[in-house]
Amino acid sequence: MSVVLEVRGLTVGFGAGASVVRDVDWSVESGKTLAVVGESGSGKSVTAMSVLRLLASPPAEYRAGNITFTDPEGGRVTELLRADARELSRIRGGRIAMIFQEPMTSLNPVMSIGEQMIETIRVHQECGAREASGIAEKALEDVGIRRRAGGSILRAYPHEFSGGMRQRVMIAMAMACHPAVLLADEPTTALDVTTQRQVLDVLDERKRATGMAMVLISHDLGLVRGRADEVCVMYRGRVVERGAVGEVFAGAIHPYTRALVACSPRIDRKAGRLATIDDAMGDGTMMNEFEARVGKRAWWPGEEGERARLECVSPGRWVAVAG
Ligand code: ADP
Ligand code: MG
Repeated sequence: MSVVLEVRGLTVGFGAGASVVRDVDWSVESGKTLAVVGESGSGKSVTAMSVLRLLASPPAEYRAGNITFTDPEGGRVTELLRADARELSRIRGGRIAMIFQEPMTSLNPVMSIGEQMIETIRVHQECGAREASGIAEKALEDVGIRRRAGGSILRAYPHEFSGGMRQRVMIAMAMACHPAVLLADEPTTALDVTTQRQVLDVLDERKRATGMAMVLISHDLGLVRGRADEVCVMYRGRVVERGAVGEVFAGAIHPYTRALVACSPRIDRKAGRLATIDDAMGDGTMMNEFEARVGKRAWWPGEEGERARLECVSPGRWVAVAG
């Protein structure tokens, strides 16, 4: 399998402020899902928005790093942080698509679903209006939104759909141009638990059917369990741990990841008091265990200045160490 999207040393800040994303490294292969997890404010969205350069700049400032897209169709390599406007608009929504937490904010309430989809499809695929409607209807059908009696589904307006259905519409729109990568930024956070699962199932099914790569962003580690191949855990703008999802869940190394795994509620475990990050860090045991295992001190915000780097502990497994 080949790497489609690679982020290296990404460092982003706003205005004169300190960097909010620091030295972030990850990559994702075709047909695979990378989960990016971490609490609110840890830099997940800033990282994802940087991929498509969606942050207004200024104030956003890309201070260091590379984001490389290698199109599996044709092999063209694009350095996204340096791409010109023309190249970016070709890739945005066409080769790399993104869906967001709240579908209502990304759908235009005064345009029918069809108008919005057809517009995007025609921008990226050279085709007429009629062909574009066919593509749109097929994409909606693929996410379980059927044609309805007495008129095309394309004539419906966003308010006619429930939250879960709107998120399906967003997925259909994102998938209509057959992107090589889908960035899904907390795609189910605004939905109830049952609908969450359905939407994630639709995403998984679309990924399997098309072989695209997926970057699934979530503040909920439990949610990505069983859905991702790799996981990248972020804390205060940094990657603290990265690795195969099974390995990270079974044997987290960095104290933050260990605390996160301990905090994440599981249905198969009796509900007790949930540990918090502070409880877990309390007596420094985890820091000492990290040091015994890795041979270096774990990076922790505020400890030994702010210097950090990722240390490889086994193939594909990385943890943040101080220094
Ligand atoms: P997450 O998606 O992990 O919840 P974000 O990536 O949205 O977190 O934010 C990371 C940090 O960057 C936060 O501290 C946030 O306040 C800051 N940030 C995000 N967008 C802006 C902006 N436009 N201007 C200034 N700070 C911002
Ligand atoms: Mg976010």
